[in-house]
Amino acid sequence: MSRQESMSQASKIQYRRPQPAQARRSPNMAGAVRAGRDTRHSRDWYALRRRRRRARRLVRLGILAALACVVAAVVLFLVPCVERIFAAEPEQLPVDEPATAKAVAAPAEQLPVVAIDPGHGGVDRGSEGPGFGEYEMTWRTANELADLLEADGRFSPYLTITEEESQNPDCARIKPSERAQRAAAQGAQLLLSIHGNSDSSTGTSGYECYAIPPGDANHEESLRFARCLTEGFGNLGQRLRGLDGVRYLYYGDDNEKLLYESDDTTVHDDPTFGVLEYAQCPAVLSEQCFLTNSADVDLLADEDGCQRAARLYYEAICSWFNLEPDQS
Ligand SMILES: [Zn+2]
Repeated sequence: MSRQESMSQASKIQYRRPQPAQARRSPNMAGAVRAGRDTRHSRDWYALRRRRRRARRLVRLGILAALACVVAAVVLFLVPCVERIFAAEPEQLPVDEPATAKAVAAPAEQLPVVAIDPGHGGVDRGSEGPGFGEYEMTWRTANELADLLEADGRFSPYLTITEEESQNPDCARIKPSERAQRAAAQGAQLLLSIHGNSDSSTGTSGYECYAIPPGDANHEESLRFARCLTEGFGNLGQRLRGLDGVRYLYYGDDNEKLLYESDDTTVHDDPTFGVLEYAQCPAVLSEQCFLTNSADVDLLADEDGCQRAARLYYEAICSWFNLEPDQS
């Protein structure tokens, strides 16, 4: 091999060296790399490499730490959300419960509740006559009155028995005491119990009503309501029975009925009508007319008569509340 060939071979070998280009990139290494000795470097080169490795290690550690922080943040955010999702399920269950529905449906303004008691119904048909039976007359009148109070907009009418309890002859009798308690449960401020009178003589007629007797906390306001009623029925032309159409009734020792006129202020221990005895507000039991008297039936117990009576009750209720009745 000639010298020239030898140089050419060395040149080829030198050309294939892997690192000279890197070595030349560092100014500190300028002149430090000797031709043909690429595996040997200066102390500075090794120090620089160590620093670079340390730097890369630190960068990797930093990236790992940042990733760990991100994962921790995501876990901390998601865990409470998941807990809320599972916790929300039982909270949603009571949505259909009555208490929740009641809270949602609570009216903005509480109207005074007026309880209307159709005095008979179910197996208890009441008095009979040429027109409606007592259960039918009281049911019709009570509903006409409820419609008037509803249309007025200043009252919340409440019927103490359902249509089924009134019209189904197989339905058990709802005791007067229970009807009074139903009215109380509704927060009634006034209770009107509607009845029809009867007598063995078809000539007996007229209007009377029964107030809560003296000695009861609701006596005075009950008597005031009774006066409102007798004024209306009297103005219609009905004869007011007894002294002035207002009476008190008591059940004696043998369950006999004891009648007292409105001027009797004696306090008796005997119980009165159940619906008045158990009433927790001013209440009156009204004997609308005699179902056994044809003139009374025509005036206050046929279809028109029930509407007429309902109007008188409505006006009396307005009067008791010191309100003007709606004229429409
Ligand atoms: Zn009756």
